[in-house]
Amino acid sequence: MKVTIFGTGYVGLVTGACLAEMGNHVVCVDIDAGKVERLKKGEIPIFEPGLEPIVKRNYASGQLDFTTHPAPSIEHGQIVFIAVGTPPDEDGSADLKYVLSVARTIGQHLDKYTVVVNKSTVPVGTADRVRAAIAEELEKRGASVEFDVVSNPEFLKEGDAVEDCLRPDRIIIGSSSERAVNVLRKLYAPFNRNHDRTVVMDERSAELTKYAANAMLATKISFMNEIANIAERVGADVELVRQGIGSDPRIGYHFIYPGAGYGGSCFPKDVQALERTARGVGYDARLLGAVEAVNHDQKTKLFELISRHLDGQLKGKTIALWGLAFKPNTDDMREASSRNLMEALWTAGAKVRAFDPEAREETHRIYGDREDLVLCDNAYQALEGADVLAIITEWKAFRSPDFARIRGMLGSPAIFDGRNLYDPVAVEEAGLAYYGIGRGRSL
Ligand code: NAD
Repeated sequence: MKVTIFGTGYVGLVTGACLAEMGNHVVCVDIDAGKVERLKKGEIPIFEPGLEPIVKRNYASGQLDFTTHPAPSIEHGQIVFIAVGTPPDEDGSADLKYVLSVARTIGQHLDKYTVVVNKSTVPVGTADRVRAAIAEELEKRGASVEFDVVSNPEFLKEGDAVEDCLRPDRIIIGSSSERAVNVLRKLYAPFNRNHDRTVVMDERSAELTKYAANAMLATKISFMNEIANIAERVGADVELVRQGIGSDPRIGYHFIYPGAGYGGSCFPKDVQALERTARGVGYDARLLGAVEAVNHDQKTKLFELISRHLDGQLKGKTIALWGLAFKPNTDDMREASSRNLMEALWTAGAKVRAFDPEAREETHRIYGDREDLVLCDNAYQALEGADVLAIITEWKAFRSPDFARIRGMLGSPAIFDGRNLYDPVAVEEAGLAYYGIGRGRSL
């Protein structure tokens, strides 16, 4: 099928590549000319496991193309996806300016029946606004062209995006048009061979499904962080509690890890946006507010522990940081907990020596060259001249370090384990002080 995708970010690029891999002809449009140029040269602007060979292969075979020109791209697609960003605006609501701008562009060039599919995460009612924006542009042109607008939220996880896209848990198709649903069923048929993963519903329910999913996941994290905060005050180890509750199949082991707070481009903004949506219809979503508040405090946790360990004397100290990305297997630094920690350390006069397997370039793009940040080539280089070590991203490479070597390199040997990767006893036996999250140790 002929597919056009607006936005070549994490969602648009992965979706485009996977649809091309299934034999579709895909054109990806972006307003960022630099990004399009890089993609045409075979440079992938993001780190996402497994993405590069799929993009290169399909670009070389002509199944996948990149452009900045919307008009021929809209002409090309029977299906046009909107996969642009929906960042929070000043009051935390989702800012729809990019989505509606694409909708208007589509309306300006539409020339045949087209299924317009919204993949961006958008507030309930956006499908109606996209439909109205397209219709308004058609009317300005005096054109009469049939089209449908479908809500098809995306559930891929950064770090596993290609796998999630090729083998989705579910495909939500939000549409009241049978014609559009049939077009999308055909597009997604290759992803449904094992069993039908499609759930068809109305647009509003589809839009809310995406927010509900992210809000539920964020709630699980904040809940576990709340339990961790209680555990450390009552002298219990939240890691044992986690295993104790996970064995109940109604709870399960997935996604109940306590830590230094959730980040990323989705959970923080989506929880906020859903809360604002609720407020907008006269409902005070107290639980969502609490999820946000717990996460906000959790992001200050490691700084407080480090400050206490160093008796508040952070000025002139050097903190080694393992991990910068908001989670492993990505280079994405949006809302990453590492940023809260580094910025608090800098404000207190400390220096940071950091290592991340993938996010070095992105960190440099955000913070530039500064005297109080050294981006290192490997984990142990980050320890040179450092006083203590903090771990903030649970990359596999950090799971089994040489504790004796770490102790020998640190000025004030202590590990601040923001993801509870280590056994506190093993760390202490190696001669280091251990601080985890909710491990009954930071009373
Ligand atoms: P992103 O910021 O990585 O990419 C967005 C891209 O859209 C950018 O390259 C930007 O240049 C481009 N763009 C903006 N305006 C445009 C226009 N008028 N025409 C063409 N391109 C334009 O964003 P992302 O992380 O891919 O997220 C996109 C949407 O998907 C968001 O709503 C997000 O909430 C949602 N989502 C993201 C994830 C994720 O893990 N990143 C997962 C599920 C859903």
